[in-house]
Amino acid sequence: MPDMELDFENRMVDPEYSAGDVETEYSLRPKTMDAYIGQVKAKENLSVFIEAAKMRGECLDHVLLYGPPGLGKTTLSNIIANELNVNIRTTSGPAIEKPGDLAALLTNLAENDILFIDEIHRLSRAVEEVLYPAMEDYALDIIIGKGPSARSIRIDLPRFTLVGATTRAGQLTAPLRDRFGVVLRLELYTTEELTTIIRNSARILDIECDEKGAVELAARSRGTPRIANRLLKRVRDFAQVIGDGVITRDIADTALDRLEIDALGLDSIDRRMLEMIIKSYGGGPVGLETLASAIGEEAVTLEDVCEPFLMQIGFLGKTPRGRVATRQAYAHLGLSMPEKPGFDQMRLETEPL
Ligand code: ADP
Repeated sequence: MPDMELDFENRMVDPEYSAGDVETEYSLRPKTMDAYIGQVKAKENLSVFIEAAKMRGECLDHVLLYGPPGLGKTTLSNIIANELNVNIRTTSGPAIEKPGDLAALLTNLAENDILFIDEIHRLSRAVEEVLYPAMEDYALDIIIGKGPSARSIRIDLPRFTLVGATTRAGQLTAPLRDRFGVVLRLELYTTEELTTIIRNSARILDIECDEKGAVELAARSRGTPRIANRLLKRVRDFAQVIGDGVITRDIADTALDRLEIDALGLDSIDRRMLEMIIKSYGGGPVGLETLASAIGEEAVTLEDVCEPFLMQIGFLGKTPRGRVATRQAYAHLGLSMPEKPGFDQMRLETEPL
């Protein structure tokens, strides 16, 4: 069993929203499409659809945004509302408990408004069924009465746009997925894009960060803007205490080493996960559930938080029989890979979703 306590709550490189992000998340959120860095493909397509909707004076088709946490799904949906000049109501799958909760949200929308549902894969079946006619016909079917005298009445809704966000497009039911006219996948960001985001955030937060310092932070942010912004704020503390307040490459390096975030952005939990696969399971394959209980974490956390990045950088592979550590993972951890017949031929799925 692990000898160290794993603390996902305070994990610096956790892409999920956490309490420490509260004060700055709003001010750092870009408000226009131009200020939204990267995601070129998604932006280009969206801009066309937004322009067309505006020209026709119609509401935008329903949009599904998917990709790992912290990549800008919420930000992008607010930008869509801004560009369309309409209101946005924000909620999440688990927050809509009963069909009546969704009905209340829908009947309060104005024409062309946006309803943003985060974690849309977590909607209950009963709620989802209310959503189908709402998305398709802009109508609500309500059952009045019980038993043989029950009858259904249809209430018209304003025409609206549903923007759904999910980290797990694969978990969406087919009828729900099919009702989205626009489906966009957000990708992990490049170091250059994250460098720009960090420099912009530093300007907004009045933090001095030179180019090389920004590049160093960007390279260790696992392709995720939320992590980049968080590292910027933490490293600023180091710059003030151990330097002269400016984030330089040296300061960033020292601070991130102290925070146990390595040159590629892996933290102790990622390394622990890879080491467990390598040292306790001979490099894999090992099932996700087994792995999760061995390192004392929930499978869903490993799957949503650690895996997309480890797979993206080619350290982890998925096979039908479980997870395997790749040759690059061995090399990064300074371990030598045993020659296993057939290992290299094993088919790896390296797609993050
Ligand atoms: P998600 O909804 O996918 O979890 P968010 O939209 O909440 O992610 O983004 C997290 C933070 O990252 C935002 O507050 C914003 O500061 C920053 N961010 C995300 N995408 C971008 C981007 N394309 N350009 C600049 N900053 C971004």
